[in-house]
Amino acid sequence: MIIFDNVSKKYNEDCIALDKVSFVVNPNEFVSIVGPSGAGKTTLLKMLLAEDKPTEGKVSFFDTDIHTLSGEEINLVRRKIGAVFQDFRLLPNKTVYENIAFAMEAAGRPDEEIESDVPHVLELVDLGNKIWNFPSELSGGEKQRVAIARAIVNQPDIIIADEPTGNLDPANTYDIVQILKKINDLGTTVILTTHNKGVIDSIGRRVITMQDGRVIRDDIAGKYIL
Ligand code: ADP
Repeated sequence: MIIFDNVSKKYNEDCIALDKVSFVVNPNEFVSIVGPSGAGKTTLLKMLLAEDKPTEGKVSFFDTDIHTLSGEEINLVRRKIGAVFQDFRLLPNKTVYENIAFAMEAAGRPDEEIESDVPHVLELVDLGNKIWNFPSELSGGEKQRVAIARAIVNQPDIIIADEPTGNLDPANTYDIVQILKKINDLGTTVILTTHNKGVIDSIGRRVITMQDGRVIRDDIAGKYIL
């Protein structure tokens, strides 16, 4: 369970990026966070990934206030979170296989598991035929599927997807949403930010709407309103 309890983030006196944000995400939920540019979505995800500290309030994850942890403890928590970004963030000089193997090595997984799990996770995102290609040889949609495979390979409890379809055409956007739904059906919590009304409407799950750093709506089976 993730709890945001009155979380505020001021970058400076003029800029309140988050203003007393509170919500709870239960295990296995699929939550979309929407709102105009500058609403505070990315800041909110940064708080969750412990990339930056709130000015006030608590972000709890598995009953622990993650901003009170040491660097080493934060790394252990981060292993429970898989992240996917709009710009894919693949390593350009590594093949698809190596990009995913690298994430497993960083988590201390043994070679036998790497050899068996990488092909398996690529099948899950329907990309088994690109295992030896480099990122530059893939389409945007294929790159994002590799990024998702990398995010899920260490079996995180949560996937955070920050505008994962922002650079994709409608057909690839549809595929990515279907894969995220499948991952959620398999038991992983998904937190997604998006500007795309069609994405929200096709997911048909909880929608948190932000504006000026505040949560202005929280709909159980929402539609994109703004
Ligand atoms: P969104 O992801 O919804 O577009 P952000 O979380 O990126 O919104 O930004 C929220 C507000 O915080 C904006 O006004 C933005 O300019 C400001 N902001 C974000 N990051 C920083 C930063 N590192 N320093 C100063 N202001 C920032």
